[in-house]
Amino acid sequence: MKFFKYVCMYILAVSCTSVEEYKGPIIDMHMHAFSFDRYGFPPPANPITGNVPIATSNQDVIEKTLEEMTRLRIEKAVISGPLNTVKKWKLDDENSFIGGLYFHPRNTLPSMKIVEEAFQDETLEVLGELGLAYGGISPNDSIVQPYLKFAEDKGIPVGIHMAIGEPNLSITWASKFRVAQVNPLRIEEVAIKYPKLKIYLMHAGWPFLDETKAIMCMFDNVYADLSLINWLMPDEEFQDYVRRLTNMSGVECNLSKKLMYGSDQMIWTDAIKLSIDNIQKIPFLTKEQKADIFYNNAKRFLDN
Ligand SMILES: [Zn+2]
Repeated sequence: MKFFKYVCMYILAVSCTSVEEYKGPIIDMHMHAFSFDRYGFPPPANPITGNVPIATSNQDVIEKTLEEMTRLRIEKAVISGPLNTVKKWKLDDENSFIGGLYFHPRNTLPSMKIVEEAFQDETLEVLGELGLAYGGISPNDSIVQPYLKFAEDKGIPVGIHMAIGEPNLSITWASKFRVAQVNPLRIEEVAIKYPKLKIYLMHAGWPFLDETKAIMCMFDNVYADLSLINWLMPDEEFQDYVRRLTNMSGVECNLSKKLMYGSDQMIWTDAIKLSIDNIQKIPFLTKEQKADIFYNNAKRFLDN
């Protein structure tokens, strides 16, 4: 009998936990403008849903992305990819897409001249995603400094990949990748050298929880996006990371005012909904905190 009493109490407790859903507009701070065959054709299935992308042309990818954005109330998305691809997406819909400069060993950094021109004609508005670590580059290296200085002078936000990658990548296709380069502590000197620079740690520094909290707490201009970990990680692990990021108010560091939504959609458009749902269902975030994460923080970060 006692057992049933406890079961009933448990059911009651669970059913009383109400999850507050955010119903306003969304800004996606981390999307990619990639070709339909970026990872080969036929493309690999989404590792979580098992769905194989149906796009058979680059135009299909743009249309499917815009369809999902409308359906999910995504007002704007930062899209980074090869410069020509970003240009095409922006020509298709300049209001929905914010161009981002992409760096990855497969897409090296364009010269400063090209970058300056692309910002001037508004193809680009964000410097990122910079996957510096994949090329063995630290944000402190001299090669990166002209880009950071330019970004600070022009008030351009910079997004840097700050998370580990898939197992064994350093001994397979990205031989220069080092875990130490994606430790958010690497940002400290840059944040001091360029005090006005707006930086966001892409993928929220995962799994460097303490370092991410420390750097975000120490510098007002350092934000983070929750991309990729919000659809690739199991709920429990993702929620635990977010809970520990947002429980610092006691030392005047309210990181829920600096975390931003991002999908890191690459070729799997079904990942966008997944990444939104996984934040919506977090039981300990209030509706206000979700509004901040989905919209207000990004708006402030981009506009200020
Ligand atoms: Zn990344």
